[in-house]
Amino acid sequence: MRNKEKRRYIIQLSGIVQGVGFRPYIYQKAKEYRICGWVNNTGARVVMDVEANRGALKSFLLDVIKNPPILAKIEKVSIRMHNEMGYNSFEIRHSDKELSKIKLISPDISVCYKCMEEVFNPDSRRYRYAFTNCTECGPRYTIIKSLPYDRKNTSMNPFSLCEHCRDEYSNPKSRRFHTQPNCCSHCGPTLFLMNQRGKEISCWDVIHKTAELIGEGKIVAIKGMGGFHLCCDAQNEEAISQIRQRKNRPHKPLAIMVKDIEVVYKYCELTQLEQEVLMNPRRPIVLLKKKSKCILPGNIAPYQNRLGIMLPYLPIHHMLFEGNTECLVMTSANRSGSALQYKNATALANLGKVADYFLLHNRDIHNPIDDSVIKIIENKEMFSRRARGYIPYAKNMGIQDEILALGAEQKSTFSISQNGYIYFSSYLGDLKDKDSYDLYKRILKNFTVLIHSTPKIVAHDSHPKYLSTRYAKTQEGHRIAIQHHHAHMVSCMAEHALSEKVIGVIFDGTGLGTDGTIWGGEFLVGDRRDFIRWGYLKPVLLQGGDSTIHEPWKTAVSYLYSIRHDPKSFLKNISHLDVDIIQQALAFKYNCHLSSSMGRLFDCVSALIGIREHITYDAQAAIELENIADPNINTGYYYLINQRENIFELDYERIILGILEDLENAVLPSIISARFHDTISNATVEIICKIRDSVQLNQVVLSGGVFENSYLLQSVYKKLKAKDFDVFFNQQIPINDSGISFGQIVIADEIMKR
Ligand SMILES: [Zn+2]
Ligand SMILES: [Zn+2]
Ligand SMILES: [Zn+2]
Repeated sequence: MRNKEKRRYIIQLSGIVQGVGFRPYIYQKAKEYRICGWVNNTGARVVMDVEANRGALKSFLLDVIKNPPILAKIEKVSIRMHNEMGYNSFEIRHSDKELSKIKLISPDISVCYKCMEEVFNPDSRRYRYAFTNCTECGPRYTIIKSLPYDRKNTSMNPFSLCEHCRDEYSNPKSRRFHTQPNCCSHCGPTLFLMNQRGKEISCWDVIHKTAELIGEGKIVAIKGMGGFHLCCDAQNEEAISQIRQRKNRPHKPLAIMVKDIEVVYKYCELTQLEQEVLMNPRRPIVLLKKKSKCILPGNIAPYQNRLGIMLPYLPIHHMLFEGNTECLVMTSANRSGSALQYKNATALANLGKVADYFLLHNRDIHNPIDDSVIKIIENKEMFSRRARGYIPYAKNMGIQDEILALGAEQKSTFSISQNGYIYFSSYLGDLKDKDSYDLYKRILKNFTVLIHSTPKIVAHDSHPKYLSTRYAKTQEGHRIAIQHHHAHMVSCMAEHALSEKVIGVIFDGTGLGTDGTIWGGEFLVGDRRDFIRWGYLKPVLLQGGDSTIHEPWKTAVSYLYSIRHDPKSFLKNISHLDVDIIQQALAFKYNCHLSSSMGRLFDCVSALIGIREHITYDAQAAIELENIADPNINTGYYYLINQRENIFELDYERIILGILEDLENAVLPSIISARFHDTISNATVEIICKIRDSVQLNQVVLSGGVFENSYLLQSVYKKLKAKDFDVFFNQQIPINDSGISFGQIVIADEIMKR
């Protein structure tokens, strides 16, 4: 009778099951429910062969599926019944040598509270040990070299487990059972503190000493999980201005790390969701609204109404907050505009003039990665930068070909498809910087090795001068050029599983159009394969090449020239001679190009109203224009929409004339900014309505870097919702150019299917 109730199932679980403690977890559950058999892990799947009476098996399975390990994500369960084997124990089998079809690798996770209890417990053998981790926390992606995820395939390989750690590793009851980076102060990596000349500082506790130095106003470069941070006391205005001077970064906001959530409430207003994202074990930087009376030094984030804040995620971070410090500047350690530093020797060489001291360790970072940046818009999580904690990102899109998509240029990423999945890389910086370009190539190589990819198809931007395009030309395989704004549109469609035709509004800085001009204020109608341009911002002749992006005043001169106005009385800080030179060049069409870029129109307005004539970081003029907008104003300027056959052209002339009139009447910049934003959102919605009348489509996707502007995004979103549109914007895949590679790969797949 008892035997009749017995069952044997072979169960496969797929998803994120590597490096998350799945095997030990199953082992413990099997013991709990008196299950016999075995569990194995083949990369993307956990396979178990389990035998027990029916009731126990059912409870076991429900428990495993409902309460998997904290880092795991089960995407698929398959169960097959087999004849009994008569197992009488349960065992864990070693990682299968055979590589599985889908390789989902866990991202890096912040240290858990159980590990931190040990770090702060003087009786624990891990007291004050900076590399403490367990199956539920610690480094994963940053240390992995190849699959399967075993210690020998990570940068923990040089460190042999001591007897104690080995016991934990092989004891199924330990929470460090099969923890690949398991270590302690006897056997694991160590920290050391150096001055800028590379001389080691001797002291009883390097973290304590580091905290002391920071307290004295010093700048310390700290090697963390994905790379180096530059760190100083965030309440010390002088130290912050030192970082700014030495990094040659006068205005770009600096991220801060605060002791705990209570401290965040002192400086920022936050919603429930913002608090949840901030406290997520993946520990992103969250952009939070500054309190009106925020007492932190203004030079952390000048001219910003948001602060980029994260909570501690490494034992080092927690220990730095032991004293009175509650807030640290933690900015990615690089020279201005250059790639993240992640190696001891190069950090010492390249940051010697920036940092006073270096807190280093001897574990290699194999896959360097920046901190992620998230903001909450319309109560939705929206990535500005998808990186540490959220990479590798793999999404099943049913793509069968192995395709490599190389992204754009300024905010580079790549995507690779394999066995249905798209793997999306972290944000890798501006390829025009040599170090960033080298990093891009390195991470790309690491990743193709990691997943054993040999793509036969290479998708790239249609701009021939982008370095990603030039790189594509060095690759073997069939190349497909993808229009920049179509890639933005499809990045958003793919994320939201839209495959039918949509109306796409792509507001962007620059991107090459199909007619050879620069686009960026685009209204497209299309699907994942093709599009038709239904509308655009009226093109203007812009003088100057790439330099105009850094000098919004030149863009303002070009715009005013096109409507026969002299900008001299508005551009108060620009010499008349300089303005004359640009005007003459425009008259002769010397070094000029046509552009419908919405980003440049924002630059023009920012310069005209005296916010920013020159910029020191990407999109600064537009960001500061957004930040001053008075949300109580909702009276836009007049605008015209020209219609030629089925093309709608947003004419900027009356908008600029309205702004000039306001300027002559000394209207406040905060009001002008709000009126301008309101005008653009009104005109955008009107054009979309006209397109809907013609094409009978109701789904709208909003994408492109200009929509990083939350004020504009929310305004357009709300107005479209009020007109019963289904509206989508990028959330998981960034709305800026780092989302481009994701769109490219989906379009390339559609083209190949054709
Ligand atoms: Zn832990
Ligand atoms: Zn040890
Ligand atoms: Zn773009």
